Amino acid sequence: MIRHEVVVVGAGLAGQRAALAAVEAGRDVAVVSKLHPLRSHSGAAQGGINAAVGAEDSVDTHIYDTVKGSDYLGDQDAIEFFCREAGPTVVEMEHFGTIFSRAPDGSLARRAFGGAGFPRTIYAADRTGLALLQGLWERLGTEEFTLYSEWDLTELLVRDGSVQGLVAFDRRRGEFEMIGAKSVVLATGPAGRIYGHTTNAHSCTGDGLAAAYDAGAYLKDMEFVQFHPTALLESSILITEGARGEGGYLRNSAGERFMSRYAPHVLELASRDVVSRAIVTEVLAGRGFHGPYGDYVHLELMHLGKEKVESRLQEICDYSRHFAGIDPVTEPIPVYPAQHYMMGGIGTNSRGETNLPGLYAAGEAACVSIHGANRLGGNSLLETLVFGKQAGLAAAEHAERATAPALDAADLDRSVAPIRAWSSRSDGEDPSTLRTEMQRTMDRYVGIYRNEADLLEGLRQVRALRARFERVRVVDRSRVFNLNLTDAVETGHMLELAETIVVGAYARTESRGAHSRTDYPKRDDARWMRHTLAKRAADGPQLSYSPVAYTRWEPKERVY
Ligand SMILES: Cc1cc2nc3c(=O)[nH]c(=O)nc-3n(C[C@H](O)[C@H](O)[C@H](O)COP(=O)(O)OP(=O)(O)OC[C@H]3O[C@@H](n4cnc5c(N)ncnc54)[C@H](O)[C@@H]3O)c2cc1C
Repeated sequence: MIRHEVVVVGAGLAGQRAALAAVEAGRDVAVVSKLHPLRSHSGAAQGGINAAVGAEDSVDTHIYDTVKGSDYLGDQDAIEFFCREAGPTVVEMEHFGTIFSRAPDGSLARRAFGGAGFPRTIYAADRTGLALLQGLWERLGTEEFTLYSEWDLTELLVRDGSVQGLVAFDRRRGEFEMIGAKSVVLATGPAGRIYGHTTNAHSCTGDGLAAAYDAGAYLKDMEFVQFHPTALLESSILITEGARGEGGYLRNSAGERFMSRYAPHVLELASRDVVSRAIVTEVLAGRGFHGPYGDYVHLELMHLGKEKVESRLQEICDYSRHFAGIDPVTEPIPVYPAQHYMMGGIGTNSRGETNLPGLYAAGEAACVSIHGANRLGGNSLLETLVFGKQAGLAAAEHAERATAPALDAADLDRSVAPIRAWSSRSDGEDPSTLRTEMQRTMDRYVGIYRNEADLLEGLRQVRALRARFERVRVVDRSRVFNLNLTDAVETGHMLELAETIVVGAYARTESRGAHSRTDYPKRDDARWMRHTLAKRAADGPQLSYSPVAYTRWEPKERVY
């Protein structure tokens, strides 16, 4: 059996930052990642990272914006810590080698982002994630650690109530391996592929959330799913909020800048839940454009001029030209909302600790919660670094005290036997069919606007798919890069998570942030100012609730 003191699963920004912190604390660290680290979804982040730097902005404004953006579901103690860490974190990344765009006076350039009271989003053109990922990878590369690249976590191993290791599948050799660990940090990133229309990469299948849930960890606030207002139509490729931050307009088919109806003060720069609902409302009212891939609205950048559009939004130009066949310098971009981010995740505190000893989580896989019911753009890249570091430190501390894992070969066999059985079936369900049907169900019944009848139908369909998954069959018997097998593992994970989303959404009879119930259109602080916790039970997720932490900000109506 392979053994390490701290095993970090995931090598995006959160995982790499956690690994760096644990190595610096003197621990023997391994990183397990199903992708090469530089291919992690963090590298797709476009618009930027928030930090209140410079004299005009303030940490308090960043805190307030985040609390308000969360529709008062974010934990204020965690948000205060998070916003205070922002400035030092960005400076540290610059020292690690990230090259940020500059203002004419040489200071860090900042752009406006939705829901922010001040332009505080620091960026590297529209490739901020890649710039951060490369800087951090270069820094981590100067340390000693072991990388298991293209290894997929399939299960966490729990002994005597604490996490003592994991099982992973080495794609290249087609072998399952057991890795013993004193601490495991899950930094496995997004789960957006539960939906069909998503800006997330194909790898974003929520494996870490499912593994944690199976091991007995709580998943927190899973019903809060963020839809980004502007994605390209057919491909759902993201058009960054930075496009509106640079001054882009949204218009309907009547030529109106319709955001004046929904957010009279800040128009296109309202928070994402508000803008996404506005676009859907316009389209439902018949004021969208029609096309072969559905109805949509226009995002206009033409008035910004060729020089600005091509220098600040290089990738947006590329994507629009190659994937929508239009040139944003001279034509409007057709856009519609798509799933973008999970506010929910593995429940942790600000140190990345979960309810299971030895298990930590950070990044998009975790729910601290700082985003509450709606995340502000630019806060997620920051979250990966701030809480990645905290989780790495806490995992290192725990590893120093913990005894060696007590696992034996039988643990590996027990874990792998059900997966091996999928390959010995002579007939059964095709995982990719189940995945596609799940995505259609979630798009149709658990989207931006929700209601009881839709959620019940969504739940019925997800449960039927889960029952069919019991008979899943892997037809490809080859060992090397068996994507049929990994597809089946991921689909099983996503079906479990889909159920927690629908069950949480059905139970929450109010509208808050990204969770919008047409049958309960108001926020209900008396009953619902609380986090949803989902724990796995024999007959599906068992829900309980936990209080929201307050410091200084009384809940108010949210107006932009
Ligand atoms: C298109 C796009 C643009 C975005 N733009 C911005 C932005 O401008 N600003 C902002 O703040 N946020 C942005 N976000 C959100 C932000 O980028 C993500 O929330 C954040 O980067 C997630 O980082 P992470 O480290 O948690 O996960 P990731 O970077 O996704 O890394 C996850 C890691 O986990 C590994 N992994 C997953 N499953 C397994 C498994 N089973 N076994 C082993 N390894 C596994 C993967 O290999 C990967 O290394 C954007 C998101 C998208 C999709």
